Parts: sequence; C-alpha cells; structure tokens
Amino acid sequence: MKKVLISPLKYLQGNSELSNLGIYVRDFGYNALLVASSDDEKRVEQQLVEANKKENFNMIHGDFKEECTKKEIERLRRKSVENDCDVIVGLGGGKALDTAKAVAHFENKPVIIIPTIASSDAPCSSLAVVYTENGEFEEYIFFKKNPDLVLVDTGIIAKAPSRFLVAGMGDALSTYFEARSCREAYANNIPGGKSTLAALAVAELCYETLLSDSLKALAACDNNVVTPALENIIESNILLSGLGFESSGLAAAHAIHNGLTALEETHNYFHGEKVAFGVIVHLVLENAPIEELNTVLSYCKSIGLPVSLRDLGVEEITREKIMKVAELACAEGETIYNMPFDITVEGVYGAIIAAHQLGLNVK
Ligand SMILES: [Zn+2]
Repeated sequence: MKKVLISPLKYLQGNSELSNLGIYVRDFGYNALLVASSDDEKRVEQQLVEANKKENFNMIHGDFKEECTKKEIERLRRKSVENDCDVIVGLGGGKALDTAKAVAHFENKPVIIIPTIASSDAPCSSLAVVYTENGEFEEYIFFKKNPDLVLVDTGIIAKAPSRFLVAGMGDALSTYFEARSCREAYANNIPGGKSTLAALAVAELCYETLLSDSLKALAACDNNVVTPALENIIESNILLSGLGFESSGLAAAHAIHNGLTALEETHNYFHGEKVAFGVIVHLVLENAPIEELNTVLSYCKSIGLPVSLRDLGVEEITREKIMKVAELACAEGETIYNMPFDITVEGVYGAIIAAHQLGLNVK
C-alpha cells in the first residue's frame, strides 16, 4: 500500500516570534517580498520594525489587494522579479497566504507563511484557492511542496477577534472524523496516497485537544492573552488540523460545507462555521453512536459553533433548498465519495434534515 505524508519544512510557534522575522528571512537571503494587505501590515507594524532592528533585511511591500486572483499573483510575481526577491513572506488571513504560496511556487522561491488569525487549517498546506475578479471560486492550485516555514506569533492571534479562533476550531473538528472515514474507505489523501499511522494519530490528537482546551482557550482569546490552552488550540487549528486533513484526506464534512454555499443565507459565515455543521451531518450520515454525536453537539454549542441550519442564518427550510445543498455536496469529484459506503443525494438530504433537527434539540 502506498502511504504518503506531507508537511511544512518547519513549523515555529511562540509569543512575539514575529519580531524574529529578520533572522528567518536571512536564512534564505536579504530581499523579502511581503504579501500582506495594508490593514494586516498596520496591525503588526511595531513587530516588523522590531524585526528589522534585530536582524536587518530589505522588505518590499507587496500591498496585497485582498483577493487571491490570477491577476494579483501575476502582479506580485513581477514585483518579486523587479526587486530581485530571495524569499516571499505571506502575512494575514487565508487569501494573502495563498497568494504568497502561489507567487513563491511560480517564481521558484522559498516562502514564509505568517497567519495572523487561526481561523482555518490552510497555512501549512501545499495548495491555494484562486478566485475570479468577482470573488467567485475559480480553481485550486496544487504546489510541489509545502511552505518552507510557518511562523505563528501567538500574541498576534490572541489579539484577533475570538470568532476567528472558534471558526478554526470548527475546521479542526472535522479533521479526525474525515480522517477516520478515509481510513475505513482506503481513500486517498491530498498527495494521492493512503494515510500513515502518524497522520491518523495527529488527527486523533487534534480532536482530543479541541475537547480538552477549547473553552479555556476561548477565555484567553476573549481577553487577548496567551495561555497554554490557547497555545494548544492554535497548534490544533493550524498544525494538527493542517497535517491531518492534507495527509489523511477529506470526506463528507467538507463536501457538506461546499453544498451549503448554495444557500445565500450562509455566505456571511466562515468556512469553519459551515464545516462544523458539516461534521454533524457527516456523523448522522455514517450513523455514529449517539454518545459521539452528543459530545460533538454539546462541544459546538459550548463554544458557539453552529449546530443547526438556523445557526447558519437559514430560517426557511424547504425540500427544494436543502436538495440543492445535497446535490452540490454530491457533485462529481466531491470528497463525500471518500466515505466508506455508497452515497446518494436522497441519503445526504435526509442526513442534513436530521442533523438540523438534532441541533435544534440541543438546549
Ligand atoms: Zn477546511
């Protein structure tokens, strides 16, 4: 059996670590192209000044335009060439990070990834989501390698709004269940092999850490302070979930997320928030034991993750609307076919309705 595991070359996490950026840039050269929006750059201005004092490097401001499009990637590639950049530094949320990865890939340069929120497991991955100029999904780009360095400053993440951290917990919540289904089905992971024992253990640890430390971490983030529990949750959201999903595979929960995008009402909700409801549908679809379902439902409820369609802004439930979600979740090539049994649109429709009812029942 062919097994594959991929990961970033280095993962580094700590309070105030951004002020060491110069040291890490100098591992690769002197000229660094910073892919960050002006808002995100302003948020960490102080740390960037400090970083340059500690170890001098030349920072070229890319002034990222907020969307990962082909045009934006092209523009930043030109900037990298014009300034003879040695390394690309992505800083901010998913879109800036994806753009930085793409620029580095096409220019064949090393990339440093600095997430300023922990809202999803994208920072460690070897792929990017590209959008059209109108903000619609265009394509995934898969890269030859994962980032050279993922640099996580816990102090910066603690100062971001808690809703981002909670959304990241929702994304991380799916990792273990999707990994488990992929293993049962002998489905392929993202790099096209079967899961290793290592990746499965990481996915399991991700779930255990969420259950034990989420509430404590949220209390810390609500007050913008770093505690050991917050550090553990940041690691779960970014590293454990990142390794877990990429090297163990995705299944129903993420396909349900994609299906939910058919409903206009859900558009203001984060990826991880929709994935959390996707996890409940995933568990109903595989008829998981009631104890496990109750654990997940009360976990979500305790930290403010959606447990029903109503929690995702969908007030009016009609067969026609939910069938649309089910159909999109079952589109050709979707990861729902990684589940270890046959999938039908009608079956998925039923699981969504029942999951929604279970969520409404939670007090
Ligand atoms: Zn995800």
